[in-house]
Amino acid sequence: MPELPEVETVMRGLAARLTARRITALEQRRPDLRFPLPTGLAARLVGRQLLGFGRRAKYILAALDDSHTLLLHLGMSGRLVLDGPPAGAHEHLTFGFDDGTVLRFVDPRRFGMLDLTPSARLAEHPRLSGLGLEPLAESFTGPALAGVLQGRLSPLKIALMDQRLVVGVGNIYASESLHRAGLSPRRMAGGLRPVQAARLATAIRAVLEEAIAAGGSSLRDYVQASGVLGFYQDRFAVYGRAGLPCPRCQRPIKKLVQAQRATFWCSRCQR
Ligand SMILES: [Zn+2]
Repeated sequence: MPELPEVETVMRGLAARLTARRITALEQRRPDLRFPLPTGLAARLVGRQLLGFGRRAKYILAALDDSHTLLLHLGMSGRLVLDGPPAGAHEHLTFGFDDGTVLRFVDPRRFGMLDLTPSARLAEHPRLSGLGLEPLAESFTGPALAGVLQGRLSPLKIALMDQRLVVGVGNIYASESLHRAGLSPRRMAGGLRPVQAARLATAIRAVLEEAIAAGGSSLRDYVQASGVLGFYQDRFAVYGRAGLPCPRCQRPIKKLVQAQRATFWCSRCQR
């Protein structure tokens, strides 16, 4: 499943190539993905200009020149391909643009989604309205993080992965951020001191930004969200490294299971 850094990388790739482009064709090969596609989709999109791109959690947002925004989610297996060859049976949508660019939405498992919504009411869209803090936003600070964690009795790692509190911190990034911040995944989420919350907010942002930076350099004309982060995994400090030495203290990394997900951590560096 694409994680937040990959979605950000894909979004930046689209923005670089498609900002100010006009949609001149749309071929739609099925009525639905995870949800039904908007009725009259081609009629609503052909002729529209893309004003700019953004992202909220793992939703890619494209502002159109008719005061609507296109929302797109890659789901489990979705990818967007710019100027690649036709992808066969799993290519569900094919966009053509006024400069000849072709964008293909390919999704074998069809957990992806696409919707259109008035830009002025974007935040009220049912897929976006319940989402937590955006970790790459300026407003993601220690006090903001402490605020959403306040009163939470669950283990810190479980709370970090709750999309209603903070978005985009998946299993890998939760383990990595907690190691960087020196905080145990088992400690109570609501019990962080202000200095610890600030350290954790900084660590989350830094880990995500490093992954984006690693992905950005490998992105050319081919934009793809390909599953687990091939470009970043060599840099993991703890994730997937049970029994290997902690990069900070050289003690073996430990593994535990929390809410059916593997957590990797160092019991010496993380308290
Ligand atoms: Zn350690």
